Amino acid sequence: MQTRSNNAIYFTETGQWDESHYHEVNKVLYSGKTEFQEMMILETKGYGKMLVLDGRIQSAEDDEYIYHESLVHPGLIAHPKPRAVLIIGGGEGATLREVLAHPTVERAVMVDIDREVVEQCMNLLPEWHEGAFSDPRARVIYADGKKFVETTNEKFDCVIIDICDALEDGPALALYTDSFYQSVRKCLTPGGLLIVQAMELSGEEYQDHLSVRERLSRVFRHVSSYIMFVPSFWSTWGFVIASDAIDASAVNSQEIDERIRLRNLESKLEHYDGETHAHMFALPKEVRSVLAPAASLKRDVA
Ligand code: SAM
Repeated sequence: MQTRSNNAIYFTETGQWDESHYHEVNKVLYSGKTEFQEMMILETKGYGKMLVLDGRIQSAEDDEYIYHESLVHPGLIAHPKPRAVLIIGGGEGATLREVLAHPTVERAVMVDIDREVVEQCMNLLPEWHEGAFSDPRARVIYADGKKFVETTNEKFDCVIIDICDALEDGPALALYTDSFYQSVRKCLTPGGLLIVQAMELSGEEYQDHLSVRERLSRVFRHVSSYIMFVPSFWSTWGFVIASDAIDASAVNSQEIDERIRLRNLESKLEHYDGETHAHMFALPKEVRSVLAPAASLKRDVA
């Protein structure tokens, strides 16, 4: 955080390639260190409230719906009837909110390693969770996501990985591994699918995404990358859906709109529909070319 000549306070998010973004801060709502990470909740001039962990923006009030709808719905709509959903991470509660919007969902389990982050979000970011934590279908567990999937006997139709980026020394690093994805596969019901927030994806910035995609390609039959521009991240964000049964990229826009209608989600969704789905999976030429090596990988599992 720094003060500049006009006396305004700025939060600087430092990305890779010597690029930084400045956000003018009206108020610091929370700043501290939890057992696992540095945490700030800021009220910014440009994007409203913002959750920042280890110096990285996790989501912002004005456009969190773009990130969370993009993360959740392409996968949940591609699944014919998601009843049980597991979220790993998802501290703000907005991923849980979007999952619970599907009337097919009977059980949503959210496993986040950091109780302090979740509790601060519950108190200071009610616009994100909109009461989702109190929904009788929801259960929150404070545990490491890797340990949870390695030891649980529960099965899920969809698993959503909404954890922090793969930062060195960050709490999420061990969840960007082949062994983690193998354990997640064992938690899925037949016909189930996995959704992963898979970091920035453009022709210039793709290595982290490609690594996630390569790992998933060694474990699952169908692996599809998709993208959406998130203004507060100031980048095009990448996601991956992986499954042995479902190819989410192959569901056409008319079918997506029909499923949205059948699940009564039309008026709830601000960003996602059939046309947006087609847009997300239509990757630009240079992005398809950097992802091509992952497409030829052989699976390691039976
Ligand atoms: N939208 C986000 C992004 O762009 O990175 C992710 C949001 S969410 C706040 C990330 C959550 O992942 C945090 O609440 C953090 O505590 C949780 N997390 C990190 N490592 C984890 C782990 N090993 N197991 C479970 N949750 C974890």
